[in-house]
Amino acid sequence: MEKKNIDWSNLGFGYVQTDKRYVSNYRNGAWDEGGLTEDANVVINECAGVLQYSQSCFEGLKAYTTQDGHIVTFRPDLNAARMEDSAKRLEMPVFPQDRFIEAVEQVVAANAAYVPPYGSGATMYLRPYMFGSNPVIGVKPADEYQFRIFATPVGPYFKGGVRPLTICVSDFDRAAPHGTGHLKAGLNYAMSLHAIMTAHANGFDENMYLDPATRTKVEETGGANFLFVTKDNKVVTPKSDSILPSITRRSLVYVAKEYLGLEVEEREVLFEEVKDFAECGLCGTAAVISPVGKIVDHGKEICMPSGMSEMGAVTKKLYETLTGIQMGRIEAPEGWIHVIE
Ligand SMILES: *Cc1c(COP(=O)(O)O)cnc(C)c1O
Repeated sequence: MEKKNIDWSNLGFGYVQTDKRYVSNYRNGAWDEGGLTEDANVVINECAGVLQYSQSCFEGLKAYTTQDGHIVTFRPDLNAARMEDSAKRLEMPVFPQDRFIEAVEQVVAANAAYVPPYGSGATMYLRPYMFGSNPVIGVKPADEYQFRIFATPVGPYFKGGVRPLTICVSDFDRAAPHGTGHLKAGLNYAMSLHAIMTAHANGFDENMYLDPATRTKVEETGGANFLFVTKDNKVVTPKSDSILPSITRRSLVYVAKEYLGLEVEEREVLFEEVKDFAECGLCGTAAVISPVGKIVDHGKEICMPSGMSEMGAVTKKLYETLTGIQMGRIEAPEGWIHVIE
């Protein structure tokens, strides 16, 4: 298979249209058989449920080329399961988990020419999503839905080297107690846009959101979970019902325990404790881990001992081990690597 003529290592994180995408429609209480299409446009009624009341959820995962030349995805079963949880909470029909995985396989195989080669640092990002598609004007769940997956190649996250982030404690809340913060839903992002634009205008890369009830505990950023390292090399990650259960964070916790022999605490993390940690990172599919160098709370700066020029030692070890597993350089736990071709 001939690869597309793309300058892989200079790709950014943006939409590049690829050849095929998967579509399935839900009508009369059932999903149709679904399949690939070349049509990148969605045509829906002006009154579609998603356009009026934002009934939608999504997932994000990557396909990449391993050292031995296979095209694989990483733990797509966890994306399928998480999308089921999102759909249920949003009163949407569940797209069956086995069909989710088959759809991922079809989209990746059909766009294999866009999967960046091993060593380029680039990957192919997959975006499964679902939305209410029929007209809804009284507030209620839609009766019809569309599930789609498209693929787009994305460049290396740390282009030009690692740059630790400077983040600020946000005055906005990301999620309500007993709300929808644990779902991968567009609604959580719509209301975060003003908060992130405000952070950027003030010179920060990201927001640190605290728990909305007490504003004393660390939750997450707009799109990544926190992972801290204590001065005695313990990994600490916030536990809360209103953070999104990151697959990267869950995988890093396993890697810390089982590959690196580190102690891991998944618990509530008080903001008060942050100044005593040695390292801080943000985990998510896009970057795996981005190091945080500085956290600013209304003018009060917390400078992580790991500094502003590189990843902390433990963060780096976690990053290298997980990306090594993903790229086939290190043996993966059973079931983590889903080979497509
Ligand atoms: C997607 C997402 C993450 C990261 O999850 P991964 O499964 O690791 O990609 C973290 N926080 C939020 C709010 C997210 O939407």
